[in-house]
Amino acid sequence: MSYHDNRTAWFEGQGLWQHIPESDWRDWTWQLKNRLTSVAELERYMTLTPEEKAGCLFANHKLSLAITPYFFNLIDREDPNCPIRKQVIPRAGEMQVSAEEQLDSLGEDAHSPVPGLVHRYPDRVLFLVTDRCASYCRYCTRSRLVSNAQDYNFHPEYEQGLRYIEAHPEVRDVLLSGGDPLLLSDRKLEHLISRLRAIPHVEFIRIGSRIPVFLPQRITPELCEVFKKHGPIWMSIHVNHPKEATAELKQACDRLSFAGVPLGNQSVLLKGVNDDAEVMKALVHRLLRMRVRPYYLYQMDLITGGSHFKVDVRKGIEIIQALRGHTTGYAIPQYVIDAPGGGGKVPINPDYLEKITDEEVVFRNFEGRRFTYPLKSTPVPSPAGAPSAEPVSEPVALPAIRP
Ligand code: SF4
Repeated sequence: MSYHDNRTAWFEGQGLWQHIPESDWRDWTWQLKNRLTSVAELERYMTLTPEEKAGCLFANHKLSLAITPYFFNLIDREDPNCPIRKQVIPRAGEMQVSAEEQLDSLGEDAHSPVPGLVHRYPDRVLFLVTDRCASYCRYCTRSRLVSNAQDYNFHPEYEQGLRYIEAHPEVRDVLLSGGDPLLLSDRKLEHLISRLRAIPHVEFIRIGSRIPVFLPQRITPELCEVFKKHGPIWMSIHVNHPKEATAELKQACDRLSFAGVPLGNQSVLLKGVNDDAEVMKALVHRLLRMRVRPYYLYQMDLITGGSHFKVDVRKGIEIIQALRGHTTGYAIPQYVIDAPGGGGKVPINPDYLEKITDEEVVFRNFEGRRFTYPLKSTPVPSPAGAPSAEPVSEPVALPAIRP
């Protein structure tokens, strides 16, 4: 795969939906009502490969098919290997289940004291507030519950969840996720956030959302007002490929930033999508230009039917190595494996360290050159005639600073 990013171009416009009034196009409810959700709807606009067709027909048993018109426009309909296409159009690979894969690969259900709330770490909880998303990612970690295609029967209990948090003073950090919390109405979201804000021990509220990427029209001034009023609300968005960084996403990120929402990005390392250093570099550079700090690069979780997306961990390390020292430090995400079964996120880093003893640390830099950092201080004897370390008797006047 070789990738060349046109750094000055930001995709924008209505693409295939030129005939729609702009006011409809910019209306997030119009985008949701007009999602492509069936083989027949997809085939109005593109020719599916046999592999895709089989995947689409199977989708309703695993994770529904849904793509907003906005996101569908980003697909290269002539290229079966298009990285956007792979993320949202099901393929036959989803039917193949490997022995190591699990429905609940992170063991969330075992740590759920009330429906819709996961309390695994002492000081923070994951609050799953909906099972719906604007479009469905074919590698979704929560495909067991998201879209309700499987027999999971997900019913988050907001009141029970809020009471649980109120009753646990050790919880200082609440992550609203799902599904996508930004699909809730402004009113419902404001109710949830203000209730959380009123809990004295909740210090940190954050939202995990792919809405800015699938449905940037949802980031309305009214929604931003909710964040402004109850801020700071932190947000992790989810961009995997530089083609997703459109003018609309950039504007949505601007609106969020100006409302005081600090933005980070979580990408999932996906075969044929972003398992390439040039793709990743183009992505992280675009993110910075959108005021979004690359936060995590995830090794894909071991979800059922996900093996066709799986990338060798050595490739992930190679990508991080290609970034470290070769671009802005702010641009480099932390590569992590979320430990199967629920061990938490574990950082996976290139190995720069060669040796560490009581005397020294030996390591290599990004160019592969070896350096030594001494750990012991060795005093140097003062040479004869060298000035003593006594303080200067008269203060030295500094030059005036001119305005
Ligand atoms: S937006 Fe998030 S929760 Fe929804 S399908 Fe994609 S990865 Fe899953």
